[in-house]
Amino acid sequence: MNDLAISEAVERIASPSWPAFEAQLSSSGGCARPVRLVGKVDVVDSSSGELRTRFSTEGEPDGVLLKACGSRRTTRCRPCSQLYKGDARVLVAAGMAGGRGTDESVTDRPTVFVTLTAPSFGAVHRQADNGPCHPGPQGRCRHGRQLACWERHTGADDVVGKPLCPECYDYEAAVIWNARVTELWRRTMIATARAMARQSAMTVRTFAASYRISFVKVVEYQRRGSIHVHAVLRIDARDGGEVDLDAARLADAVHLAAGRVQAPSPLRDGQPIRWGSQLDVGVVSGAERRRVANYLAKYSTKSADDAGALDHRITEADIPGLGLPDHLEALVRTAWRLGGSDALAHLRLRAWAHCLGFRGHWMTKSRAYSTTFGLLRSARHEFRKAEALRIAGEEIAVDEIEVGSWRFAGVGHATEGDALLARWHAELRARHRQLARKEEGPWAA
Ligand SMILES: [Zn+2]
Ligand SMILES: [Zn+2]
Ligand SMILES: [Zn+2]
Repeated sequence: MNDLAISEAVERIASPSWPAFEAQLSSSGGCARPVRLVGKVDVVDSSSGELRTRFSTEGEPDGVLLKACGSRRTTRCRPCSQLYKGDARVLVAAGMAGGRGTDESVTDRPTVFVTLTAPSFGAVHRQADNGPCHPGPQGRCRHGRQLACWERHTGADDVVGKPLCPECYDYEAAVIWNARVTELWRRTMIATARAMARQSAMTVRTFAASYRISFVKVVEYQRRGSIHVHAVLRIDARDGGEVDLDAARLADAVHLAAGRVQAPSPLRDGQPIRWGSQLDVGVVSGAERRRVANYLAKYSTKSADDAGALDHRITEADIPGLGLPDHLEALVRTAWRLGGSDALAHLRLRAWAHCLGFRGHWMTKSRAYSTTFGLLRSARHEFRKAEALRIAGEEIAVDEIEVGSWRFAGVGHATEGDALLARWHAELRARHRQLARKEEGPWAA
């Protein structure tokens, strides 16, 4: 915080346009990097053809409207990422406990929580809760590095997730695995339905005619830079009725499917992509539903590195300046290099080098699982609009059509003083939300 920013902020607060500016901070949620727009919204009365302007930035502070950036990444924008995280929690929770347009009967359906990991691409230092890192073979690899590590690393230790020998580590396979994990997941869902049918003594066709496996899945990066998948799977009856299948049986089916499933590698014939042996499947009981929703939402705000150097697309020239740890840099460079190969062009590894090859979405769900971010956001938008109109004392007529025309005027706050006010506003909001959550109980967003 510098003196200039403070005097700019004071000037803003003292100006006659402050209430209007504060209203914009509020509608953009205190976004740290808002998009500045110039334009207006006209309303056409579809029966009379009358056109009038409902809103124009002409009368707004600096003649612009601040629109929230909507980023999910904390390193890009904290207030927007918190909002995103709240939406993620609602979306996951609704699929397990109902609400926001999802039927409450989901509570009674068989539900499991699954964690799937990547296989080993070479020994990495690991956090040792009850033993040394790699007690193991004496001797050295062909690059002359020790094969064992007897340290007991804590989570705070920078070495965790880094290879014992970077030259032995299979960076290519690690990047290709990230690039193919979405396909592996798709196949796992199909295999789970098959295993479920077999266990229930049904044909695949009969099972599919009666049931559907709905899911929400989120990905995160392990310290070694490999994708890690967490998912909630739920069995629905297609007719909307009760499901007479056991959650334990679903857990078995996932186990079976994940153990067997594989996807072809575009890099190496005969070395298909598979899940690692670390597989965790548990039945989700009623009491655990909230914990699981919070747990999944926690991953929403992260990027491939903690510091945020990889929270946006990069070019090869950017890589040295990112200040990445060696291991992450090697993964980024490998993705870039493989991205130059014609045979791998379809993986678009250069465009996704900042995600270490992974080009999926951090959260995906099957259609029937619960609500969507879009619906949650438009509900919020409609609410704000209604609120704004109520203040203006205007009602919305059903046969009116809104027509907006906007021009992009820039990104970020116009002055450091405005940025400071936005931070202050966001801080207040976060505290209000915390208080509200305590009052509303465990399911509040
Ligand atoms: Zn933002
Ligand atoms: Zn170690
Ligand atoms: Zn080696």
